[in-house]
Amino acid sequence: MLDRGPDRAELAVEVAPGLVPTGLSDGTAHPLRDGHALPARRFAQVAHLGVVEEDLQALTHAMSIWAQADECRFSVRRVGWSAMPELPEVETIRRQLAPAVEGRVLRELRIDDPRWCAPLAAAPLGAALEGRRLERLERRGKYLIWAFAGEAFLLAHLRMTGTLLIDPPAGTRYERVRWRFGGPGGAGPEIAFCDPRRFGTGELALGGDALDTFLGARLGVEPLGPDFTAAALRAAARGRRAPVKALLLDQRRIAGVGNIYADEALFRARIHPLRPAGTLRGAQLADLRDAVVAVLTAGLGAGGATIDDFRHADGVRGAFQDELLVHRRRGEPCPVCGGEIIKLVAAGRGTYVCERCQRPPRGARVRGRPRLSRG
Ligand SMILES: [Zn+2]
Repeated sequence: MLDRGPDRAELAVEVAPGLVPTGLSDGTAHPLRDGHALPARRFAQVAHLGVVEEDLQALTHAMSIWAQADECRFSVRRVGWSAMPELPEVETIRRQLAPAVEGRVLRELRIDDPRWCAPLAAAPLGAALEGRRLERLERRGKYLIWAFAGEAFLLAHLRMTGTLLIDPPAGTRYERVRWRFGGPGGAGPEIAFCDPRRFGTGELALGGDALDTFLGARLGVEPLGPDFTAAALRAAARGRRAPVKALLLDQRRIAGVGNIYADEALFRARIHPLRPAGTLRGAQLADLRDAVVAVLTAGLGAGGATIDDFRHADGVRGAFQDELLVHRRRGEPCPVCGGEIIKLVAAGRGTYVCERCQRPPRGARVRGRPRLSRG
């Protein structure tokens, strides 16, 4: 299940109190795929399911049969998407955290989950940072960079389901790490990293050179920075036979774009995601560059798109999901031409397109149809 991550829909199932579904309450097992029917009279009041979106109807159907048999009320509703936070989501969190923590001394870095910073052990990581003043909280791509005095950098990545909360209550669900800062009168703000699926990471770079090496090996151009020009995108696309969507998702080329914003940018630029990047004309790449900047900027303006487990630092959800034109809108009419939005796989990811607005490349168009034989 976990490897399906980005295409999962998170569902909440609400049923009558006192009934608990075995295999569901841990949020990992899949009742249909696992081949067992939902057992009667063993349901939780609210069970969070990780199931792929396609299974929603099948699950609803199975539960309706079960519910009729048992005369039990239930509802299945989608509570969010397990998609990775992308640049706008990470930047939204950074902007909220920075005023609270910049300039403050880190008193304690409490790491409850050693996997977060492995292979580095929790104790030396804490020792390297505790007692230092946080000079700046920065972002590159999807990394949050905690820049401490003396050029000690903590590089945090939220991955699939991580988020950072300001002053959450003790014992917050899925809490893995807690930063305790000092304040003028003693105790200052506390930041908690919460991450149900535990893919988030924390890494240490000591010295500016180490930071540059770390980022240089992983991240390409910053799409909202001055270097992301049409010429830069042309250079990145030149000669590449991989689909253009793969180019957008490649963090070493363009840092911070993920599945949601790639789909939206390609739709706005009227480019099919399966088009080999190297076959795009200069004007198309210029349009695509503008579209990437536009969707990321709009996402930032809306406080990011709300993804399950993604919250602002103050616990509020973003709103950009309401402005998505194609992503997760399979079967709905295209907002431009009225054609049907379809879902296909590009760069290994669930991808949403209007093939009237985004003309498929020749190879993709003839796929599945018989070719006429000549002679
Ligand atoms: Zn269309």
